[in-house]
Amino acid sequence: MSIVISRIDLRGNPADPRDLLPRAAMDVEAAAQQVRPICEDVRHRGVAALVGLTERFDGVRLTDIRVPREAIDSALAGLDPAVRAALEESIRRARLVHHDQRRTDTTTQLVPGGTVTERWVPVDRVGLYVPGGRAVYPSSVVMNVVPAQEAGVPSLAVASPPQAEFGGLPHPTILAACALLGVHEVYAVGGAQAIAMFAYGAGDCARADMVTGPGNIWVAAAKRLLRGVIGIDSEAGPTEIAVLADDTADPGHVAADLISQAEHDVVAAAVLITASEELADRVEAELAPRVAATKHSERITEALSGPQSGIVLVDDLDHGLAALNAYAAEHVEIITADPRGVAARVRNAGAVFVGAYAPVSLGDYCAGSNHVLPTGGCACHSSGLSVQSFLRGIHVVDYDRDALAGVAHHVVALAEAEDLPAHGEAVTARVGRGENA
Ligand code: NAD
Repeated sequence: MSIVISRIDLRGNPADPRDLLPRAAMDVEAAAQQVRPICEDVRHRGVAALVGLTERFDGVRLTDIRVPREAIDSALAGLDPAVRAALEESIRRARLVHHDQRRTDTTTQLVPGGTVTERWVPVDRVGLYVPGGRAVYPSSVVMNVVPAQEAGVPSLAVASPPQAEFGGLPHPTILAACALLGVHEVYAVGGAQAIAMFAYGAGDCARADMVTGPGNIWVAAAKRLLRGVIGIDSEAGPTEIAVLADDTADPGHVAADLISQAEHDVVAAAVLITASEELADRVEAELAPRVAATKHSERITEALSGPQSGIVLVDDLDHGLAALNAYAAEHVEIITADPRGVAARVRNAGAVFVGAYAPVSLGDYCAGSNHVLPTGGCACHSSGLSVQSFLRGIHVVDYDRDALAGVAHHVVALAEAEDLPAHGEAVTARVGRGENA
């Protein structure tokens, strides 16, 4: 199969690049309508619905949605030592980074006797989604669980699609990763139905306050639909990589990185932005042999040929940065002569990988950064998963009588301006109109 990656020539085009850049014709809104009946079914019929939907979408007849403890323990016992060592290193690095993200409470003294404290409290219970359709993602166990644990979440459960070839359980490496992290509440449920299970509760699975984790369009659609019933992180849908590169970049490395992210999904997006036509040609020439030589060449070919992928030609580095920021990719790579200087000017990205030796796949597994990142342009307003995702800041307002009296007249004035006099009366009932009345 030949690789037909589209070229988008923005040179000399003063238009806002946002509308000209390749983007998946993925309609999460339409998918949300399709997953609505799935979510309603889980809401009303609980486990019976999960069993039926799992048979339909995963081809597995579940006897129990919950994975037995023994299966989790034996998955760890049977784990390849090299994979175990890699997972342990991934966990170690992720823990170091996420530990440093922990927040401390802050107290602001406004007047003597009047303070506001911002107290950071973890969510009580979270459901963590670990994808397992086209590929299985033990790394996503690490990326979900570590920040939740570092935030101090007291109750967490993992859901991942059952695999017919593993007796209807999630992939053993996913179970082993759960065991390494001390997570023993695991459900063999995938897709939109897993998000609904966490939102409404079903059988052994108590409803959660929040669900996080990456997934395909059905998972992203269910998160969008159920937002409000349950808290969500960002919509971490099909993967995207945008590489901003100049003539100093190695075309083989750029091609390898584009291919690595196209490997996730037929709708994954791989975009190169460059002012160098020569680099564009050389990267394009590198793609075909590399794709042909790799295992998932069909999936990758479809992703690279899709409308969401392409090589974008720009006037210069500044124009490239404007396009990059307009695109707001999940993963951004900067492979230019001054990568740190350029990276500092990136404003919209899930994560930025700086220079020739920081490929996205380092971040997928072992950089210490999180790989659950906003996609579909959501990086212009959302962040990747972090400790902060699992915390709520509660304002604790502590005023004594004098502190209240000192500000009472202002409260009354604003209450009257809003025509809500009872608001003011709640204050005057305690301290009159205050010392300055
Ligand atoms: P998945 O676990 O997200 O989805 C598999 C589930 O989809 C199945 O269990 C099934 O229940 C459901 N499903 C399949 N077809 C359906 C249909 N027609 N209608 C309703 N439900 C259906 O696994 P996946 O498919 O491999 O997708 C994983 C995705 O996660 C990829 O797109 C990958 O790029 C993405 N990802 C994103 C990030 C990120 O941070 N943004 C990180 C890792 C992976």
